[in-house]
Amino acid sequence: MTQKTIIVTGAASEAGLGFATARMLAREGHAIYLTDLDSDAVEARASELRGEGLTATAMVQDVTDAAAWTELVDTVKKDTGRIDGLVNNAGIAVLRYMADLEEASWDKQIDVNLKSVYLGCRAVLPVMEAQEAGAIVNLSSVAGLVGIAGTAAYAASKGGVRLMSKSIALEVAAKGIRVNTVHPGVIWTDMQKVAIADNPDGYDAINAAIPMKHMGEPDDIAHTIAFLLSDGAKYITGAEFVVDGGLTAQ
Ligand code: NAD
Repeated sequence: MTQKTIIVTGAASEAGLGFATARMLAREGHAIYLTDLDSDAVEARASELRGEGLTATAMVQDVTDAAAWTELVDTVKKDTGRIDGLVNNAGIAVLRYMADLEEASWDKQIDVNLKSVYLGCRAVLPVMEAQEAGAIVNLSSVAGLVGIAGTAAYAASKGGVRLMSKSIALEVAAKGIRVNTVHPGVIWTDMQKVAIADNPDGYDAINAAIPMKHMGEPDDIAHTIAFLLSDGAKYITGAEFVVDGGLTAQ
């Protein structure tokens, strides 16, 4: 397989979807740029991969900052001459009922989960257009497909990611660039641990509500993202991939 250059954002969390994806892609032989706000953790993750003999570089990046995207893209281009893949994974979950949602929390939710995807796509598309090739995978959620009480701001961000991705996919489909979304159900990461921190019965209740009766693992999402970035997915664009143990099939 030809080695590709792929950027994965939000890749610092050891049990997170970003690092699982970065590790899987690096083990497939690709050169991975792991980015995150958390400088120590992202360097630790990249160094872990290099310890396995893999090609991994850490970059500190706030995905809501346009200048940080320019710096990242310039660095990757200078290092490798190309950008074959982008995984817009970084995200936060502001889980509050709408009536209790402060404006600052709404803005932060939309900035980190939705504006970041716009900035990331805008930053890499000129490089991919010049190459006439590239693939982008944007992390949405089951909350970007169906309503879930208490997630309105998160759902607005993830629903936005879903339709923005389809629109971009149409804009660049004839240029050899593919854009798809992945919609995880409940995957046991730090984000979920925080979400149920105040509810001791939360873990069992969530498992019981899932048709497969258990949460997903980060690698379940990583496999789907790796497939969508691969040449095996060369005819797939503007599509949404649900990975949720049957949650939204009910
Ligand atoms: P996580 O909280 O474990 O990791 C998220 C990472 O994003 C962290 O390393 C964090 O430092 C980073 N990050 C946050 N804000 C950032 C910013 N402004 N700039 C750069 N990095 C930033 O989360 P996760 O569960 O691995 O989720 C990854 C993605 O998958 C998110 O977009 C999330 O919404 C989505 N998702 C997760 C689940 C789930 O069940 N875990 C379900 C549906 C969707």
